[in-house]
Amino acid sequence: MVGEMQGGQPTIGLIGLGNMGVPMSACLLRAGYHVLGYDISATNAERFSAQKGARRAAGIEDVGRACRIIILMLPDGNVVREVVLGNDSKGGLAAVCAEGTVLVDMSSSAPTGTRELGEDLAKRGLTLIDAPVSGGVKRAVSGTLAIMAGGDKSAIAKVQPVLEAMGKPIETGPLGSGHAMKALNNYVSAAGLVAACEALAVAERFGIEPDTIVKVLNSSTGRNNSTENKLNQFIISRTFNAGFTVALMRKDLATAVDLAKATNATMPLADTLLALWAEAEKRLGGAADHTEIHRLVADGQSSSEK
Ligand code: NAD
Repeated sequence: MVGEMQGGQPTIGLIGLGNMGVPMSACLLRAGYHVLGYDISATNAERFSAQKGARRAAGIEDVGRACRIIILMLPDGNVVREVVLGNDSKGGLAAVCAEGTVLVDMSSSAPTGTRELGEDLAKRGLTLIDAPVSGGVKRAVSGTLAIMAGGDKSAIAKVQPVLEAMGKPIETGPLGSGHAMKALNNYVSAAGLVAACEALAVAERFGIEPDTIVKVLNSSTGRNNSTENKLNQFIISRTFNAGFTVALMRKDLATAVDLAKATNATMPLADTLLALWAEAEKRLGGAADHTEIHRLVADGQSSSEK
C-alpha cells in the first residue's frame, strides 16, 4: 500500500482515469507527486499505470485510506456522489477517509449537487472543493488547463500546488461556483463551435476554400477557440478526435440551462443549443466526438458532404 507521503511529496489520489484523468496524472507525476489512481475501466486504469511512478489502486477505498488529497475526474456529479458516498450512503470514499481529507471535484458537475455533497461531507469532517477545468485534452497534456476553484479558501490554498501542476487556478468564490462557471463557459464554447460550423458549411457551399474560410475567421472578429483550435485540426481534417464527447457537451449545456432556471434567468440561445446537442446524441451516439456536431450542422445546410 502506498503511504500518504513518499519522498517528501504527498501521494495524490485520482479517481477517473479517462481522456482527461490520464494526462492530468502525467502532470502530477512530472511535478514529483506519487499518484494512486482508480478507474472502473481496467483498460483506462492500465493506460494510467503504464506511467512511471503511477500506482493503480485495487478499489476506491484504497485511495480513501491512503491519500489526504483526492481528485475526482469523473463523467458527472451523480457519479462523483456515488463514488464519494457509496450506494444508499454505504461504502464509498467518505466511509474510509481520515478527517481533514480534501476532495477535489475536477469533473464538470452540476453546482447544486456539489453544494449538497459539500454539506454532507462537512458533517463527516471532510472538505469538498470544486475545481473543474477548461482547455481539453491538449491543455491537460501540456499542464496549462484553466482551473475554476470554488470553496473554502484554506482548503484551496492547501491544494494550490497540486492544482498548479495541472494548470492555472482561478478562485471563483463559494463551493459550486467553479462548477457554475464551467457550465456557463461550455455554453459559450458550444455556441462558438456551432457558429463556426455553420459559417464553414455555408461558405463551402458558396465555393470558398476551407483554408481561406479559417484564415479569414482567425484574422477577423469571428475568431474564437473553435475557429483557432478545432476547425482545421478536427473538422476540416475529418479526424473528429478532440477527446471530448457529445454526451459530455450535452450534459454541460443541460447544467447551464438548469442554472439559468434556478436563477430565474432566460437563455434562449442555450435552449436551442441544448436541443441541437440532444439531437446529436440521438443521431451520432453519446460517445461521438463533440466536433462531429459539424455533421448535423452540415446536414442542416442540406449538404451532401458528411
Ligand atoms: P472520460 O469518459 O474519458 O473519463 C471518465 C472516466 O471515469 C472513465 O475512465 C470512466 O471509466 C471513469 N468512471 C466512470 N464511472 C466510474 C466509477 N464509478 N468509478 C471509477 N471510475 C469511473 O471523460 P473525460 O473526457 O476524461 O472527462 C472527465 C470530466 O471532465 C467530465 O466531467 C467532463 O465533462 C470534464 N471535462 C472534459 C474535457 C475533455 O476535453 N475531455 C474538458 C474539460 C472537462
